[in-house]
Amino acid sequence: MTRLRCARCGADLTTDLVEIPLPDWRAPERPEDVHPLMPPGTYAVDPRGVSTRPHGTVVVNPADAVGLREHDDAMRLSGCCRRDGLDGPNQLCASCGAEVATLQDDCWVDWSTLRFESTAVLHAEATPTTDIHQGEQHMVDVPIAELRADLASWIARAQAGDEVVITEQGTPVARLCPVESASLVERLVRDGVLTPAKNPRTPSKSIRRIQPTPGPPISGLVGEQRR
Ligand SMILES: [Zn+2]
Repeated sequence: MTRLRCARCGADLTTDLVEIPLPDWRAPERPEDVHPLMPPGTYAVDPRGVSTRPHGTVVVNPADAVGLREHDDAMRLSGCCRRDGLDGPNQLCASCGAEVATLQDDCWVDWSTLRFESTAVLHAEATPTTDIHQGEQHMVDVPIAELRADLASWIARAQAGDEVVITEQGTPVARLCPVESASLVERLVRDGVLTPAKNPRTPSKSIRRIQPTPGPPISGLVGEQRR
């Protein structure tokens, strides 16, 4: 889960979202009316990159946006019935006024989309609905794309003792956890498998170690036996 935040002021710009692959906008069963391309609660990164028209590569369902307002320049809001999104970003961060996204929901477009400029938004860790406390540790989900974008800090988090569950399209696929540095015995004691002795025994001093006594080499004895 992730939220998009304004890169300039840090204000939340979406609700919590899960990354999915960009749905096929050429789908033959596309509806007659304009519908959102993205299911609610999801986002996708457009693999076509910044050359897309309208602009913006992080695609979300318009209903999942928060803290946005229309652009002050009416030219940006042009369209037939609604906004065609072809004149540059038309949505501003309501907190700081940064141009952050392009809304396209005009009557003639195939799908309605809200596209955030990848440089205008930050991915914030979602509100801790998936942050499960396990004693001193935390378990937290992270989508692969987010992990890749900020690998070092996720590794630091795992080293600090958190269990990081890596998800692909919302499904857990792998786990990042700290390398166990305690000895096997310490771990078994900690996990309750072993119980340390109350009175640890020390080797008895009364047992005398047998010291080898110098004598003829054994090869001589072997040779003797063979005769
Ligand atoms: Zn802002």
